[in-house]
Amino acid sequence: MIEFINVSKIYPGNLVAMDNVNLKFNTGEFICLIGTSGSGKTTCMRMINRMNIPTSGVVKIDGRDISKVNAVDLRRQIGYVIQQIGLMPHMTIYENIVMVPKLLKWPKDKMDKIAADLLDKADMPKSYLDYYPQELSGGQQQRIGVLRALAADQEIILMDEPFGALDPITRETLQQLIKKLQKEMGKTIVFVTHDMDEALQLSDRTVVMDKGKVIQFDTPENILTNPVNEFVRNMVGEDRINQAKFDYDHVEKIMNKNPITIQADKPATDAVRLMHDKRVDTLFVINEDGVLQGHVDFFRIDRKEIKTKKVRDFLNEATYVYSDTKIRDVIYYINDLGYKNMPVVDKESHKLVGLATRASVVEALYDGLWSDYQPEDEDQIDITPHEEEIV
Ligand code: ADP
Ligand code: MG
Repeated sequence: MIEFINVSKIYPGNLVAMDNVNLKFNTGEFICLIGTSGSGKTTCMRMINRMNIPTSGVVKIDGRDISKVNAVDLRRQIGYVIQQIGLMPHMTIYENIVMVPKLLKWPKDKMDKIAADLLDKADMPKSYLDYYPQELSGGQQQRIGVLRALAADQEIILMDEPFGALDPITRETLQQLIKKLQKEMGKTIVFVTHDMDEALQLSDRTVVMDKGKVIQFDTPENILTNPVNEFVRNMVGEDRINQAKFDYDHVEKIMNKNPITIQADKPATDAVRLMHDKRVDTLFVINEDGVLQGHVDFFRIDRKEIKTKKVRDFLNEATYVYSDTKIRDVIYYINDLGYKNMPVVDKESHKLVGLATRASVVEALYDGLWSDYQPEDEDQIDITPHEEEIV
């Protein structure tokens, strides 16, 4: 665990780079630090391996005040990666990968094993170990660079905008690789970025910084759905916040809460009358406790038999969703799989609590995509001729 306790950093000229920062990162977490340029991200990250010393406050790793730990020993235990350190051209891939383990004087068989394991995890053939960097593509070299960061098997790895200068496609591949390796190997990564998509995609929790202060320290979900203030809202952007509604909000938020229902033991004629009165072609059938049993469909009721039959005689199975289903999934069922509507039931009781319809999905999509839409020329909607024009 990494802890910042009342940590401040003041550079000469009274420049406050960190202002009373308190943070706790758990072992095995992927932490991103994000903020505008100069907000103190790098300063904060570099305190973890004592490349920066707090002006006041304490940094602890696993409960130990790191100012009391030998700096060289500390740095051995912590990996550090900055942007654009390419591979050494005169060294093989193997030599590049085990550069730090070699400095740490690992035995050869241990180095061989980690190099082979890492290539395997990155889906690259072991034969690459004997290649020179220029024999691999640019993208493959970048992947080796990521592997090298993990080769010394340090518990904590600090990364300062490692993918900052790459094209979007290479960056995305490397993001997926680092996230996969971090999870599989259980590393704690502290990753500085100024790219919100990168932070939201990679991190378990993200620290949003401004002017040396921690503004919000939270999961991507909470940052997207509950940004604490205007600064975070602006960092995240309205588009992402609107889109996040589909990923995190539940169908409860958009469903119609009064589906038309009937009980199974009622005469079928009641069902037809109710459909007519309510102008619907489907009724949801519930039992006396409100538990969903299925539905009846106007076009599947045999009119010859209707007088003697009950609702249960025309009962069809209903495909339903639980009330905590993500809006994104409901959109998929209705839009892509073609369900006309989906009854929503409570997970525990199976009681019918609502109905997601095509109309409710359209409304949610509309709000998400067009909530801030304004016609460019407001006069367009004024289509009735003015009186003077009629004359
Ligand atoms: P970020 O990584 O978020 O862009 P930094 O942590 O690098 O921000 O810097 C935070 C502030 O501290 C900036 O105003 C920067 O100019 C200042 N700063 C960083 N390092 C030094 C230094 N060695 N000496 C003086 N000022 C510094
Ligand atoms: Mg920086």
